[in-house]
Amino acid sequence: MADQAFVTLATTDSYAKGAMVLGMSLRNHNTSRKLVAMIGPHVSEPCRAVLHKIYDEVRLVDILDSGDTAHLAMMKRPDLGVTFTKLHCWTLTQYSKCVFMDADTLVLYNIDELFEREEFSAAPDPGWPDCFNSGVFVFRPSNETYGKLLTTCSEDGSFDGGDQGVLNSFFSDWATADISKHLPFIYNLSSIAIYTYLPAFKQYGHAAKVVHFLGKVKPWDYSYDTTCKTIKGQSQDASDMHPNYLLKWWELFSSSVLPLMKEEYGDQPFNSGCMESPIHEVAKKPHHPPPTQMSSQERKQKWEQGQADYMGQDSFENIEKKLDSFLK
Ligand code: UDP
Ligand code: MN
Repeated sequence: MADQAFVTLATTDSYAKGAMVLGMSLRNHNTSRKLVAMIGPHVSEPCRAVLHKIYDEVRLVDILDSGDTAHLAMMKRPDLGVTFTKLHCWTLTQYSKCVFMDADTLVLYNIDELFEREEFSAAPDPGWPDCFNSGVFVFRPSNETYGKLLTTCSEDGSFDGGDQGVLNSFFSDWATADISKHLPFIYNLSSIAIYTYLPAFKQYGHAAKVVHFLGKVKPWDYSYDTTCKTIKGQSQDASDMHPNYLLKWWELFSSSVLPLMKEEYGDQPFNSGCMESPIHEVAKKPHHPPPTQMSSQERKQKWEQGQADYMGQDSFENIEKKLDSFLK
């Protein structure tokens, strides 16, 4: 077991918060595997210190001063910076097998059984199910594979501009070759799927083991009221309709991560580094505030670009109301 690990990546303090919650959620469900956080050079000292408390290993990955191939690849495609950094997980060769998880995922049950799977296993992407989603995947670290991935990356680029495009081009037979490499969707449930196939979510959603907060607005972009234990701007009964994963994320953040952060920051307001606002009352405003007034045409366009306001206007309860009104 010591040679198997869950791996995540954070290049900023914001993603580091995600990594802290993810790590805690894995610990809370008693994983027997190692936890590894890869961080970029911009992650602040206090955040690193907190990550050290949660993860077995915090590894600084700076693609710019890594081996020649990586450096060259980076020079060719500077636009793919974070992508290259994520691919770095293949260099963790002291582990024989790993499960990579995006920093915006949250574990709800023990998922150690994923280590029974082989490289390259992943769950379908809700937007294009013949592609896998690269938020959760099983892989085998190997410098050889890493080199090949970098070559693909720098020569062919990425059809979606990120790691998911590169990985789908590289592991291109995933859709057809071996069904055991298709992880069940419950290991990478994205909120998008809840809204696009509601009856299926109602039937199978309770079995979800990993939630993925895929998309532009991340849990840490919301405000949380620690006294009322609510997400600002989200109506209370949203959580009666379906498990409120966003609230779960914040509950874990405030109960388990904040105390660790307080040890690092003392009682001063966290106005730099990890926390950008005092945490006693409400955290902070979304980085990308959901637009309040939008024409239905604009809203449709947003939907079609995959930018629905899932936590606000296009929330579960609003969509359900709409569906109900059609059905009546
Ligand atoms: N990531 C990061 N810094 C960034 C962007 C991404 O560390 O600036 C890492 C992080 O682990 C994140 C993953 O790359 O979860 C994939 O990005 P993201 O989750 O934002 O993409 P999405 O799942 O929304 O497509
Ligand atoms: Mn993600």
